[in-house]
Amino acid sequence: MKTIGVNTKLASIIGTDIGHSKSPAMMNAAFEELGMDAYYFPMNIQEEDFGTVVKGLSKMNYMGLTITIPYKLEILSYLDEIDPLAKIIGAVNTVRIQDGKLKGFNTDGEGFVRGLEVDGGLIIADQTFLVIGAGGVSRAIMTVLASRRPKKIYLANRTVEKAEEICEKLNREVCPCCVPLPLDCNLEPFAAESTVLINATNIGMPPMEGKSPVDLSLLRPDLFVADVIYNPRRTLLLETAEKMGCRVVNGQSLLLHQGKIAFQIWTGKEAPVDVMARAVFG
Ligand code: NAP
Repeated sequence: MKTIGVNTKLASIIGTDIGHSKSPAMMNAAFEELGMDAYYFPMNIQEEDFGTVVKGLSKMNYMGLTITIPYKLEILSYLDEIDPLAKIIGAVNTVRIQDGKLKGFNTDGEGFVRGLEVDGGLIIADQTFLVIGAGGVSRAIMTVLASRRPKKIYLANRTVEKAEEICEKLNREVCPCCVPLPLDCNLEPFAAESTVLINATNIGMPPMEGKSPVDLSLLRPDLFVADVIYNPRRTLLLETAEKMGCRVVNGQSLLLHQGKIAFQIWTGKEAPVDVMARAVFG
């Protein structure tokens, strides 16, 4: 059991429903592996207390925070500085605290895209993407994908206005490569043109486990398929793709790479990714 002393460097994940979070096991395994006097623990904070808690933590021996639902936007008003990419995304999930000053980052998109590059061996600039979903995680992934200047990104969403808003902003500010689509249109020609299909919706995890965000007939063996979901490890989409011989990457990769980036932001050290992976996925 870790002993916490006055010099122990602290970090926390802050949200309203974080009992299931794998981040404490992942980060504490990394601190232990590197022999650091540091400890990471989860905090369920009520909405009316969020500002008071953040201001208080900045006066304590904190090096960083992970910010999750519902605070990824609210944290913006407590920051002294914001990373340029997080500014475009418009949401922050990682905060570095140094000398009482808070700097915000967004590691979701970079974590996912590094997963595609490192674990999937993809060169983003060579690809055409079909991304399904235009929620918070999609917005982060879309921003980082666009910043790598791929051939094209089709973004399909049930609420097409959200896809239109993201594409319009990225086409203007990052790279003119984004095309919005309604999820219920005929996706066949867009899937046929794409080399990578990404599920960035909740479809495939409970209570929608066993469902796919797209018609599975769109899959073909040379399509690369990625999913943001890590529970279950294999969604119906990934399971079907894998059986067909597609290369796949799941949400574990996102979790690990974004954890690795956050660890480096807080500590300046290279994160022991293998140890972190064993701590959360066995
Ligand atoms: P979000 O902001 O709530 O967005 C959800 C997206 O899913 C929206 O595009 C929504 O479409 C779509 N959607 C939900 N139900 C649908 C349905 N029945 N039919 C069609 N579309 C549907 O959520 P988020 O924060 O982006 O998270 C998305 C997923 O990422 C979650 O599964 C989450 O677990 C996962 N995630 C994984 C990691 C990781 O480390 N691997 C990290 C963060 C999140 P509308 O816009 O039309 O509502």
